[in-house]
Amino acid sequence: MKLPDTALIWLTLVCQSTGEHGMSATKETLGFQAEVKQLLQLMIHSLYSNKDIFLRELISNASDATDKLRFEALADPALFETDPELKIRVAFDREARTLTISDNGIGMSRQEVIEHIGTIAKSGTREFFSQLSGDQKKDAALIGQFGVGFYSAFIVADRVTLTTRRAGLTAEHGVRWESEGAGDYTLETVEKPGRGTEIVLHLRDGEDGFLSDYKIKSVIRTYSDHITLPIVMKKTEWKDGVEVPTEEDETVNKASALWARAKKDISDDEYREFYKHVAHDHEPPLAWSHNRVEGKQDYISLLYVPSHAPFDLYDRERRHGIKLYVRRVFIMDDAEQLMPAYLRFARGVIDSADLPLNVSREILQSSRDIDAIKAGSVKKVLGMLEDMAANQPEQYATFWKEFGRVLKEGPGEDFANREKIAGLLRFASTHADTDSQIVSLKEYIGRMKDGQTAIYTITADSFAAAKHSPHLEIFRKKGIEVLLLSERVDEWLVSNLTEFEGKPLKSVAKGSLDLGALEDEAEKNAHKDAEEAMKPLIERIKTTLGERVKDVRVTHRLTDSPACLVTGEGDMSANLERLLKAAGQTAPTVKPTLEINPAHALATRMNAESDEDRFKDWANLLFEQALLAEGGQLDDPASFVRRLNGLLAMLPTP
Ligand code: ADP
Repeated sequence: MKLPDTALIWLTLVCQSTGEHGMSATKETLGFQAEVKQLLQLMIHSLYSNKDIFLRELISNASDATDKLRFEALADPALFETDPELKIRVAFDREARTLTISDNGIGMSRQEVIEHIGTIAKSGTREFFSQLSGDQKKDAALIGQFGVGFYSAFIVADRVTLTTRRAGLTAEHGVRWESEGAGDYTLETVEKPGRGTEIVLHLRDGEDGFLSDYKIKSVIRTYSDHITLPIVMKKTEWKDGVEVPTEEDETVNKASALWARAKKDISDDEYREFYKHVAHDHEPPLAWSHNRVEGKQDYISLLYVPSHAPFDLYDRERRHGIKLYVRRVFIMDDAEQLMPAYLRFARGVIDSADLPLNVSREILQSSRDIDAIKAGSVKKVLGMLEDMAANQPEQYATFWKEFGRVLKEGPGEDFANREKIAGLLRFASTHADTDSQIVSLKEYIGRMKDGQTAIYTITADSFAAAKHSPHLEIFRKKGIEVLLLSERVDEWLVSNLTEFEGKPLKSVAKGSLDLGALEDEAEKNAHKDAEEAMKPLIERIKTTLGERVKDVRVTHRLTDSPACLVTGEGDMSANLERLLKAAGQTAPTVKPTLEINPAHALATRMNAESDEDRFKDWANLLFEQALLAEGGQLDDPASFVRRLNGLLAMLPTP
């Protein structure tokens, strides 16, 4: 299912009013947009085999809503009204064939219902839709990653009634939303004495299995045990062979913050379920790290590495990172002060024992305590990755595929951990027979040639351009490994990572090539001789090309190609210059140096050329093909083609 762009813009606005707007008390009908309907259909079909998750989703929303209330009530205790005991209630009615999930959390105003329920205005929606293939199986996996949320109610219900009132508003500001999950939904203003949200699911035919005390409790214990507030149900007793609810309440879940429990009492399944809740991600995580830190700062951290990138990894407004709690009270989502940008994939909870409850984002920004917690948490995440790289190479490969590009931002952002981060990087290489990034700097150093002092790299705007660059010819001939860098972020990486374990990183396309001890005396003498012999030709080319080049010189890099371009040691690489210009940014134009292969037949040919005009063509052609070979663009392609054809026409007829 590919949607046109305009439809996607629509999606973020999603609902189209077919009734009246505003605060009217009358019932109004609003239409779902066509694509929302499609999404609903797709979800109902693809998640059919895992229906139970709707309960987890609704309980998770209810739990978030009570977290929000508790936090807002710190500043305004009146929000608790006369009902301070936060809880989630689950009930079923066999007669009416309904299942009800209610909470006394923050609730929603009419406007919030319109904005939050019935819209899929999440960041990443565009990417999500563009990735749908129409293949049910693939799409089902994608939907799992996208997060199904409130809509999952329609997996088991053919009608959903949501009644809610925002904490702090009076009873007559209740709102009722109802939909059959098909074409439209209705909205009406109702009385709701208790604050919070109640969701009634009218079960589809065949879903009566959920009208069972045992079934509901086992689903809650499987998926929602970690929810920190009580999930209560009426106790039931058996009468005449059926379960009948009594008046007595019973708490179904453990209802203690999972992270505050002792490690030994938490099962892997519980850690995984908690991850789904905290990360809004339906795929299990790759790894986690649970720590209780005592000392100057007392805090608990439970940090996870996801197994796939969220759709909004590169979206500035993305949310859901690390949740900050203070003594079990939820303070904020996406506390970016707790994790640097290059670790923005990490998910989890940090619960501080020392911070004040009224801590704000502003306070976080300038708090030393927070800096200490952040430093400690960064170490934990990097430690988790090191451990994975060493002991679970397959998982690490998955991690690298999903998040490698983000981790490459690290050396430029976190100087203190630069060496550690560098150790985690993986690269494509001339010595790997795959285009995947699998070579570590340690591995590279381990197989450096005798006498080799630098780690050689090449950057280009595609893997093919890097792999086939003429700059690699001498390295290939001598069997020296070169790391092939072809992602945008690589330019940023190599400008920030200048060495690893005392070995400098060196671009093979920058500066004059000095292979030092990798060349023997005979080779060095041969270079000197070639330079001497080529002097007149070099001068002639330099005069001809004039402003196009910074310099022309003899090269020792090439074995097969006639020429290549290099930039100065401190200059911006040609690849970076192109990237910046393509992104519409201003970048200085760096004049390249043209290097000529003295052993190439073209050099001999040019040396013998007496026709000045023809020599001009040769020289320009040499420059232009070197530019093309490294992925550059010609300012004047037509002249290039004319010159090329002119010279081709001189070939002897066979
Ligand atoms: P998500 O939870 O991933 O944001 P959902 O579709 O599950 O997506 O919910 C959308 C929004 O609706 C929530 O972010 C929240 O603002 C609101 N919402 C859902 N359930 C409740 C609830 N029980 N109480 C208050 N607000 C809710």
